[in-house]
Amino acid sequence: MAETADVIIIGAGVHGASLAFHLAQRGLTVIVLEKRFVAAGATGRSSGLVRMHYDTEVDSRLAWESFRYFRNWKELVGGDCGFTRTGFIQIVAREHADALRANVVMQQRLGIPSFIISAEDVQRLAPSFVTDDFDIAAYEPESGFAMPGDTALALITAARAIGARLLQDCAVTGVQTAGGRVTGVETTRGAFSAPVVVNAAGAWAGQLNKLAGLELPYDTWRHDTMFVKRPTGIGQSHPTVIDFPKELYFRPEGGLTLVGLEDGNPLGESPDGDADHAKPGFVERAIERICERIPLMEQGGLHSAHGGYDGITPDQHPMLGLAGLDGFYLDCGFSGTGFKISPAVGLCVAELILDGTAKTVDISTLSPLRFAQGKLVSGAYQNIWH
Ligand SMILES: Cc1cc2nc3c(=O)[nH]c(=O)nc-3n(C[C@H](O)[C@H](O)[C@H](O)COP(=O)(O)OP(=O)(O)OC[C@H]3O[C@@H](n4cnc5c(N)ncnc54)[C@H](O)[C@@H]3O)c2cc1C
Repeated sequence: MAETADVIIIGAGVHGASLAFHLAQRGLTVIVLEKRFVAAGATGRSSGLVRMHYDTEVDSRLAWESFRYFRNWKELVGGDCGFTRTGFIQIVAREHADALRANVVMQQRLGIPSFIISAEDVQRLAPSFVTDDFDIAAYEPESGFAMPGDTALALITAARAIGARLLQDCAVTGVQTAGGRVTGVETTRGAFSAPVVVNAAGAWAGQLNKLAGLELPYDTWRHDTMFVKRPTGIGQSHPTVIDFPKELYFRPEGGLTLVGLEDGNPLGESPDGDADHAKPGFVERAIERICERIPLMEQGGLHSAHGGYDGITPDQHPMLGLAGLDGFYLDCGFSGTGFKISPAVGLCVAELILDGTAKTVDISTLSPLRFAQGKLVSGAYQNIWH
């Protein structure tokens, strides 16, 4: 006899873990099936930036609601998510200055602590930065980064403490249906049945959608990052930064600086590719770029580099909700920016499953059906990954 639950979640990344936590809090029996181990996918490789600056309201709302969790982790979840406040600076080129101003107004309307600052202010906050190629930036003094692996582990531990089950080394190999609705899954460890199955399989979610008979525009996205040993001249730390002019982001971690690039992130690779090593040429490009913004980095040294895979959609926004098979929900497609919104997304998807609609944040614009309807999500900055 197949084991049964109210909800089966495929994947124990930060999103599967968050959803399990919120569903278990509402009293449901939940089984999380993970083919490897907790945070084995994108979550374990994530840079962990936590900020609210976005060019669409739904993203800012999800990030802001999630920030409540990051700031009050012990009380709301338990354990430790490793949140570190560094301050966050969003740098944009001069042609995006008006869009930046409009976004900050939107974020302030939501109550988010975000301000427009001048290039001179950026110099004062980070004296080692070159600031002659932009006029203004957005500044979030409360933002920073968290530890994605720790976050996922804390969420799944809290979920298990209130009854959720986690099976690791258990790959879903088939999706069972009857009469147009999902009834369960087949796995390498037998069959499991439930009236609700959630695909939270990250870069592998496209494969599972196909197993469920769904044709959706879903791809894989590869992203490399490196850690640099920071030279002492830069000081003890520096803010977390997204730097559109240089197509770069970076943040501190102890005496290291983590660096990622917005360009050169290939689509369509197998998600089982080599994520333990960065692609040839990545480190050279990243070093060149970080040295353009912080020339003193030339005195730094490479610490390590690796890659990771996430699921990506055509508008680089997640797919949240039903997609054509009753009971089969998507909670995937986070397109390289899903970590910081994970606490709120889990809460909203739990509301969607239990109440028929998400009340905490209206996520209806992120329905997987938007692609067939031609209602893609777009903001002033356009898709950032290329
Ligand atoms: C290098 C990198 C840096 C990033 N930096 C940031 C950042 O700074 N800020 C930010 O907000 N976001 C960032 N992201 C994006 C963010 O990390 C992801 O959006 C998020 O972690 C996705 O979580 P997930 O749970 O959806 O997927 P994953 O963490 O990939 O989890 C999916 C899980 O499903 C499991 N699985 C797959 N197939 C099956 C199957 N058939 N059966 C059972 N289990 C299965 C996998 O093993 C995996 O553990 C980054 C991503 C990468 C790759």
